[in-house]
Amino acid sequence: MSMLFSPAQIGTLQLRNRIVMTPMHLGYTPMGEVTDQLVEFYRARARGGVGLIIVGGCGIDRIGNAFGMTQIDDDAYIPGLRRLVEAVHAEGAKIVPQLYQAGRYAHSAFTGKPSVAPSAIPSRLTGQTPEELTEEKIQEIIASFAQAAQRAKTAGFDGVEILASAGYLISQFLSPVTNKRTDRYGGDLQARMTFGLEVAQAVREAVGPEFPIIVRVAGNDFVPGSNTNAESRIFCQALEKAGVNALNVTGGWHETQVPQLTMNVPPGAYTYLAHGIRQAVSIPVISCNRINTPELAESVLAEGLADFVGLARPLLADPEFPNKAHKGDSSNIRPCIGCNQGCLDSVFRLRPVSCLVNAEAGREAELGPLAPASQPQKILVIGAGSAGLEFARVAALRGHKVTIWEEKDQAGGQLFLAAAPPGRKDFLYFGDYLRKACNELGVKIEYQVQATPGKILEAVEKGDFEKVVIAAGARPLNPAIKIEEGVEVLQAWDVLLGYKKTGSNVVIVGGGAVGVDTALYLAEAGTINSETLKFLMEQHAETDEELHRLLTQGRKRITVLEMVKGIGRDIGASTRWSMLADLKRRNVTCLDKHTVLEIRKDGVVAESAADGQQKIIPADSVVLAVGSGSRNELYEALKDKLEAVSVIGDAAKPRKVLDAVYEAYLEGRK
Ligand code: SF4
Repeated sequence: MSMLFSPAQIGTLQLRNRIVMTPMHLGYTPMGEVTDQLVEFYRARARGGVGLIIVGGCGIDRIGNAFGMTQIDDDAYIPGLRRLVEAVHAEGAKIVPQLYQAGRYAHSAFTGKPSVAPSAIPSRLTGQTPEELTEEKIQEIIASFAQAAQRAKTAGFDGVEILASAGYLISQFLSPVTNKRTDRYGGDLQARMTFGLEVAQAVREAVGPEFPIIVRVAGNDFVPGSNTNAESRIFCQALEKAGVNALNVTGGWHETQVPQLTMNVPPGAYTYLAHGIRQAVSIPVISCNRINTPELAESVLAEGLADFVGLARPLLADPEFPNKAHKGDSSNIRPCIGCNQGCLDSVFRLRPVSCLVNAEAGREAELGPLAPASQPQKILVIGAGSAGLEFARVAALRGHKVTIWEEKDQAGGQLFLAAAPPGRKDFLYFGDYLRKACNELGVKIEYQVQATPGKILEAVEKGDFEKVVIAAGARPLNPAIKIEEGVEVLQAWDVLLGYKKTGSNVVIVGGGAVGVDTALYLAEAGTINSETLKFLMEQHAETDEELHRLLTQGRKRITVLEMVKGIGRDIGASTRWSMLADLKRRNVTCLDKHTVLEIRKDGVVAESAADGQQKIIPADSVVLAVGSGSRNELYEALKDKLEAVSVIGDAAKPRKVLDAVYEAYLEGRK
């Protein structure tokens, strides 16, 4: 990791390494003021060895604001901001605020007023139409940026970052899609750059020549008709001339239809955007988006794609990422798996950010450090799924002696199901981490053990265990649907785990997350893999239609039937849209508001709620994905016989991995 930990500089700012924690919308400051939650969250990341933290966004005014945003629009916030700065400095890291103005991404529900933008063009994100800014109002906003930067300097920050990416106000001025002005702020690219450059110049004047300024830019808006890397390079060159000290290059707008943060984005896929900018400027460039291992981070630097790497979610997942990487202990880093369940999906639900793989994230102030157990116990855990493993890890960390009985020959439980669809394999990395952590803490995992109430009671009576935790997971449900004799109906779990094969004409009963996962898994199975594609593309310069069909749609005809309105309703907002787009691309037929009446040899009989019509959907395979039920029999059998028995995870009630892991963590802390 020689590059990652080489000293680095942004303007006058010396940094201990080249890892930058890029800004995240955390929702930890509901009143705009710095809270203990925010301070302890960032203190932990600073202690974990990060070089620079960019906090944000920090609202420079009220009209361009969002839920839970930290504010920097009034001197009253300076003491709180100073407390945050001091906490981070005490741990050896540097810190700058991101100056945030959302323009037409602001929602009147938070600001109490219509949002403002270069032109009155409705926002796909909010569904609202902003008011067009007058020149006078533009000058006020520029002044607010400058005043906010001055406050940052007063509070002791080491610099500022100006937000000019992701579809926020400055990018709205830059883009011909959202800027239709005819005054000096609109027109060709040079004119559209005027607002962003005036902001940068005003900030420079406010903070003086030595104070570092970073600008966050889109490496490509990924919006049809908007700016690409070529236009971004021109803007970045102008920013450099205006005295900006570094460029933080991210991907596209929040309105984009191109996945940038979901699990199916290959790690490092967007580093080319920063590289494009780096070739055009001589100031340092930060590369972001799905850089999630020290090895990848090092190679981004070593290959000259960027000068710094920007990590946000990986530091949410493991604040000690930099320290572990520095010590050569990267195999013990708790990996960010790109699931978005705790982070982005929480933002969409207006909740504070948490993390699926790190139950402590955002709760550092509330939970405090993990204390050793006052009386270490011998604990038996039934089930080595994510809940059982997380409980075992936390309990063992506290000094308990933990044994897990797992009925299968491997640990990980339903993580294997979650990882089966295309682009979802990162779920396995969480299982790998938990298994490794448990092994290193001395947790004994006994495989292929069939736990029964008698066997558990006997072990407790013998004194082998003092406490029992049931984490036996769930099992798929069988709905009460009439099935013609001789028809084999498959369970989605068996299909996803590869235990059962389907034909080429498949009907999936159930359009929740598991139904969608199964459809994508089967559709992908019918396509050609990348190795074959590469070979065929090389050998057949002119791709024929059949090859294209095989690549995009595969060989299988798949229908998903869902009883209620909407497909994939239980998938988080940050991921659902891209999975639905994948279903469409794969030519999967999705029929919601259809009740399955019968499964026959010639297909599935379904009735539409819209018109009451019945139809037969031909199928040679029928797969059930209608939910799961708790495996809580052991708990029910033991709860009156044992004093110390508890139930966690899906064995208590089927739930998202995020909730199962958090609950297991809390049980381990008890
Ligand atoms: Fe990464 Fe998922 Fe945690 Fe978000 S919730 S930081 S995507 S592991």
